[in-house]
Amino acid sequence: MDFFFPKRCACCSKILSDNEANLCVSCISEIPFTHWSVDRENELYKKINSYVPILAAYSLMYYYENTSSKAIIYRLKYQNFSLIGKEMSVLFENPIKLFQQKHSLHGIVYVPIHEKKKKIRGYNQLEELSISLSQKLGIPIFHKALKVSHYQESQTTKNKLLRFKRRRNVFEKNESIPPGNYLLIDDVSTSGSTIVNCVRELHKNSKVSVVVITMAVAL
Ligand SMILES: [Zn+2]
Repeated sequence: MDFFFPKRCACCSKILSDNEANLCVSCISEIPFTHWSVDRENELYKKINSYVPILAAYSLMYYYENTSSKAIIYRLKYQNFSLIGKEMSVLFENPIKLFQQKHSLHGIVYVPIHEKKKKIRGYNQLEELSISLSQKLGIPIFHKALKVSHYQESQTTKNKLLRFKRRRNVFEKNESIPPGNYLLIDDVSTSGSTIVNCVRELHKNSKVSVVVITMAVAL
């Protein structure tokens, strides 16, 4: 099969060699990994924890314009989940195992997407990633812990000629989850507002603490 349909890099589409799984060596070498340790207080932890208390935070890579991290996240979101997702779940395994040892995690929760969007896209990449992590690490997923709704924000510019509506996602507690330490998974954290919103909602359950993990972080 590989002879007729050679495997291609999920990021740059170059034909892969035998020792490359889903991404080529050159794309992997361009990923701006954070190399954070799970013990150290990092920028993401400090940012989120200044709004809402969390146990820990971790990001796999930095998110910069014009780098492979942006291309990878884009493809993961819109084009090619299964290939990059597999690669990402492998990269996530070690930090999550360390968190598991430190905080004995009870469950995985991910940032949901709106049902309409999921229908159009066919999947939520974070749900897929959570499923593969759950299988590898034996931690259950709580699919319905959070739900998302749209909030229409009317904006009027200074000259009042241009009016436009901006749609914002608002995350809410959905089904209750048992007390314990949960891993919250997001893809890219920029302002941190999505994560803060989700953590606040998860805290509406009794005795729930959160470890935040993102694929990329823009600082
Ligand atoms: Zn590549």
